[in-house]
Amino acid sequence: MGKKACLVLYLGTGNSHKVLEFMKMAPPNVSVLQAFSSEYPSPNVLESGKTFFVNAYLKAETFAGALREKVEGVIISDDSGLVVPALSGAPGILSARYAGEGASDAQNRELLLKNMKGRTGSDRRASFVCVLVAMDIKTGDLMASSVGSVSGRIANGLMGEGGFGYDPLFVPDGYRASFGIMAPEEKNRISHRFLAFRKLCSMLVAP
Ligand code: IMP
Repeated sequence: MGKKACLVLYLGTGNSHKVLEFMKMAPPNVSVLQAFSSEYPSPNVLESGKTFFVNAYLKAETFAGALREKVEGVIISDDSGLVVPALSGAPGILSARYAGEGASDAQNRELLLKNMKGRTGSDRRASFVCVLVAMDIKTGDLMASSVGSVSGRIANGLMGEGGFGYDPLFVPDGYRASFGIMAPEEKNRISHRFLAFRKLCSMLVAP
């Protein structure tokens, strides 16, 4: 039996919730290292793209540039958000700043609930989307990218206080509980981030 290849990935995100999720969902043959910390914070990235992919790519490019003199290997970055078809895809790529630049998660949720007022049935359909990009830190070459999404609906009000972002408002298909109520282990088994991450890992690790 051949030995399974092992992969080390630098995680390019300043979002502590995302870091925790990625660390917990890494398959056994993949190690995830935090690229940035409070002593070495992640550089700001102008998310000027019009798609999740372009913004994930812009993040990877900036993070790879910042790490180039320090380490070799692979950086992964993600861009993710909530897509509501009845709102023409909003909040979408603007999920983190839906209620304006610097808005808190609570302010973003409040605006979403306001915009969903009076909408029922299929108009409450939504999905979380995550796009991941893997880049060679030294060369800046794009190595792989993947997409994960999970479908569900927007609750009528806050359900739970767990997770982050829109978790308390999102009820995945097949569940009665929102991501804000669900145990983190459960969310990490079905989430957009999990699906994208597992796909990316399988592309990067030779069988
Ligand atoms: P990004 O950090 O630029 O990718 O923005 C992601 C934003 O999308 C977050 O700030 C949240 O508002 C939202 N989001 C993405 N993934 C999740 C999730 O798993 N739960 C809740 N909100 C999420």
